[in-house]
Amino acid sequence: MSFTVAIVGPPNVGKSTLFNRLVGRRIALVHELPGVTRDRREAEARLGDLRFKVVDTAGLDEATGEFLEAGMRRQTERALAEADVALFLIDARAGVTPLDRHFARWLRKAETPIILVANKCEATAGDAGVLESYALGLGDPIPISAEHGEGMGGIYEALRSFAEGGEEGAPAEEAGEAAERAAEAVEKARPLRLAIVGRPNVGKSTLANRLLGEERLLTGPEPGVTREAIPVEWSCAGRDIRLVDTAGLRRRARVTGALEKMTAEDAHRAIRLAEVVVLVVDGRAILEKQDLTIARTAADEGRAMVIAVNMWDLVEDREAALRALRDRLETSLPQVRGVPYVAISALTGKSVDKLMPAVFEAHRIWNRRVPTARLNRWLAEVLKHHPPPAVAGRRIRLRYVTQVKARPPTFALFASKPEALPQSYLRYLGNALREDFELPGVPLRLMLRKGKNPYARA
Ligand code: GDP
Repeated sequence: MSFTVAIVGPPNVGKSTLFNRLVGRRIALVHELPGVTRDRREAEARLGDLRFKVVDTAGLDEATGEFLEAGMRRQTERALAEADVALFLIDARAGVTPLDRHFARWLRKAETPIILVANKCEATAGDAGVLESYALGLGDPIPISAEHGEGMGGIYEALRSFAEGGEEGAPAEEAGEAAERAAEAVEKARPLRLAIVGRPNVGKSTLANRLLGEERLLTGPEPGVTREAIPVEWSCAGRDIRLVDTAGLRRRARVTGALEKMTAEDAHRAIRLAEVVVLVVDGRAILEKQDLTIARTAADEGRAMVIAVNMWDLVEDREAALRALRDRLETSLPQVRGVPYVAISALTGKSVDKLMPAVFEAHRIWNRRVPTARLNRWLAEVLKHHPPPAVAGRRIRLRYVTQVKARPPTFALFASKPEALPQSYLRYLGNALREDFELPGVPLRLMLRKGKNPYARA
């Protein structure tokens, strides 16, 4: 038996975009002429192996002012009446608005189960909004980007129990794993966005050409005219790869014949566009200040990273070079502990074939989701063996932990007195999370929030 899902929420939070994403056809226009009354739209949707009917309430976007609330409510009530479950969408970038709170207050009383969905969460844009939204009392928000198709695994997980009359008996863990598999499948179908960054002359262009197997970057578009970057795509081990922002890689003959080199600005833009960053360094001068600056930018932007130690053919004492590298990583990049590195020679091609497998693995870890049940069993163990210190004679209680998003793995921890929890203990928890759930090398976010288990509805 199929089931029906309603998409509800205030105007402009992205309901139509999500509707389109689920239906897979562009039948709902996101921008429409004002003043035209639209009916609710319904269509068959699919998500992984789930088939369901989806109902969009976007028509109420045209109501304004005092009619807005009344119209919204009427539309939503109608949609809820015929739905088995509703996705309540908010715009996480805008944070929780008074309208969201108002909406949530009466949704909490609805008979239809409500799933809170925080939209517009691409990159780190929605992080604060996601955290804030716990206060709506509708349980764990599912962060997504309807526009970019991110977070669909989370929606799959949440909807799965409504399929086939509800497999509610399925243990949460199994559902979590199924969601992870679904998310992985969705991910694999899209090109992996890769950036190659590094100081001038470390061999980025040589490496890019090597990976592409042809001299494509060197013979780019018309020289000297535009700074616009053309994406370059190729495929490796059955995966499509898109090299983002090749502007900094492309050599362009100027009048003087000078080579254009990647600037810090190029590097930053490439990092922002990428999922995985390959940081190319010179094996003879490993992780210099400039290299570290780029690596830290990648970590701050929440990207996965692989270090390509290039010019390996020119390195005389390789053991010493590796020792130096490990040392530098340990002391200067603890925020991405366990970051993978591969020693290569872009010029001769030696070991370049080891780079992409490392990129895929980093991407997989970056996309990982740990089921909430496992996290909380882990938290209980941690608290037993290494409880937080008492502050002013009172213990800080850590009540609940959940992964709010992947890309990079981001966790929320609910505590009785978050402001009093020492940084050192937070670091300990972060490292333990990384170790125990096998999340090496990716930036890992651990956000603290005051409060109780958000599953307990207000
Ligand atoms: P980019 O500025 O980072 O793009 O660096 P290029 O790719 O232009 O490389 C700078 C110079 O280093 C060129 O002369 C390359 O031929 C050379 N080069 C690149 N990789 C290697 C390598 O692994 N070994 C050696 N010996 N030379 C390399």
